[in-house]
Amino acid sequence: MPLPNDLKDKFIEIVEVNHVLTDPSLYGPYTDDFTDHYKSQPLVILRPNSTEQVSQIIKLCAENRLGVVVQGGNTNLTGSASTSTPDSEVLISLTRMKNLVSVDTKGDSMVVEAGMTLADVHKCAEDNGKFFPLSFAAEGNATIGGCLACNAGGVAVLRYGTTRELVLGIEVVLPDGRIWNGLRSLRKDNTGYDLKNLFMGSEGTLGVITKVVLKLFPIPKEKETSLVCVESPAKAVALLNRVKDSAGSLLTAFELISEKPISRVKKNLPDVEVPELSPSPWKVLLELSLFEKKEESVLESILEQAFEAEEITDAIIANSLKDSHKFWHVRESIPLADRTEGGSIHSDISLPIASIPEFLEVSLKRLKEEFPWIEDSIFGHLGDGNLHYNFVSPEDPTLTYRFEEEIRRNLYTTVIEYNGSISAEHGIGMLKKHHNDEFKDPIELELMKKIKNAIDPEGIMNPGKLI
Ligand SMILES: Cc1cc2nc3c(=O)[nH]c(=O)nc-3n(C[C@H](O)[C@H](O)[C@H](O)COP(=O)(O)OP(=O)(O)OC[C@H]3O[C@@H](n4cnc5c(N)ncnc54)[C@H](O)[C@@H]3O)c2cc1C
Repeated sequence: MPLPNDLKDKFIEIVEVNHVLTDPSLYGPYTDDFTDHYKSQPLVILRPNSTEQVSQIIKLCAENRLGVVVQGGNTNLTGSASTSTPDSEVLISLTRMKNLVSVDTKGDSMVVEAGMTLADVHKCAEDNGKFFPLSFAAEGNATIGGCLACNAGGVAVLRYGTTRELVLGIEVVLPDGRIWNGLRSLRKDNTGYDLKNLFMGSEGTLGVITKVVLKLFPIPKEKETSLVCVESPAKAVALLNRVKDSAGSLLTAFELISEKPISRVKKNLPDVEVPELSPSPWKVLLELSLFEKKEESVLESILEQAFEAEEITDAIIANSLKDSHKFWHVRESIPLADRTEGGSIHSDISLPIASIPEFLEVSLKRLKEEFPWIEDSIFGHLGDGNLHYNFVSPEDPTLTYRFEEEIRRNLYTTVIEYNGSISAEHGIGMLKKHHNDEFKDPIELELMKKIKNAIDPEGIMNPGKLI
């Protein structure tokens, strides 16, 4: 149905005419999702610039029983910020709400509006002599509100935790339009249920996060980054334990990368400089963050011991920040190299770390038995037990898409058998909703539905996602 004129006029009263979009030729950035799987058809796109405007919009949507999809940078990989029914849902983009509200350098916290990009959050922290650690390849577009709503992970979880561990307080517009001001910066608050944690990871199904109190940290003085060759995931786990024992909390990232995606980066993205190392089926990219300058490399002696213990076969340590960026650039180029290869589908599973070597062996065998043509692309945050277990089908790119359901079911069955999770960081959205229904504990699902009904009884927030 087209947007009724009286409703359009009321939206214009709230956010002004320029920010009420009804012309589909202007919709592109809001409706085309990163994975090319989903194409939204919203009733209207609204771009508020304050909590009060969001509150008035939600009140109007609730009165008219209109579904609401909240959107930040639209960088999710699960269809969670796309409409689920054509021409019936209101899409609210928070990208105009991007202001710094306040910084408390003595209490190490900062309040920002939810539409600020993660890259700008980093800059605001740095401008005030502090560090905000959440980091991943889409940080130039992903908003901090989207990071909370997905409980984003990224490359520094090992040291600093996921988004949930980086947030002290939030402000939320509830599904009836009321504003909950939970903008407290307390490190300790034991007055009952931790409500802010309900909204984090809720994928826009419980309310609109409009402001956030973030934890800040000291800026690391130096980084030591290394790219290491290992013969197997078991050797990588042994190395992980060695580095954790020797370097403790200095270890901020520990990424496992199969040689296959690296060779696709070399083949498909010739501009990306891949460091020369001796051949090995797996690589590890690891990073230490140091808070004082050291004369000697901390990493070098740990890697020497690992070499003597035959855990690693070769290693290269970055000589400069530029080199370190080069190493990370290889890792971050993998999704694009896979997409170029053809038929790329992705997953973001997590497992108990010790079981990963056996899990990889068993799951690959089962997948190859059912889909002999499939090619894997495995990389991810081994230090967090989180793997991006992706696939390509270069011979016929349509194959992986045609068999996507079966491939996911095959993989997730093994994940659950090994006590893992079908989503470590990207969330459920529309992509994995039915898999979550199938694989999540039924009691947990029932409790989630009860919470959803209690907070959003009319079911207007992000219909068709998560539950
Ligand atoms: C190249 C690439 C690399 C990535 N790497 C990682 C990674 O390493 N780790 C990781 O965790 N993720 C990663 N992602 C996924 C994605 O960037 C994150 O999930 C990010 O948190 C999404 O933020 P966004 O602002 O784009 O949210 P959107 O995509 O706009 O929205 C995502 C979900 O959050 C909801 N939402 C958005 N804003 C709000 C709000 N203010 N209030 C309530 N709900 C809201 C939406 O309704 C939707 O359900 C990657 C994505 C890409 C494209």
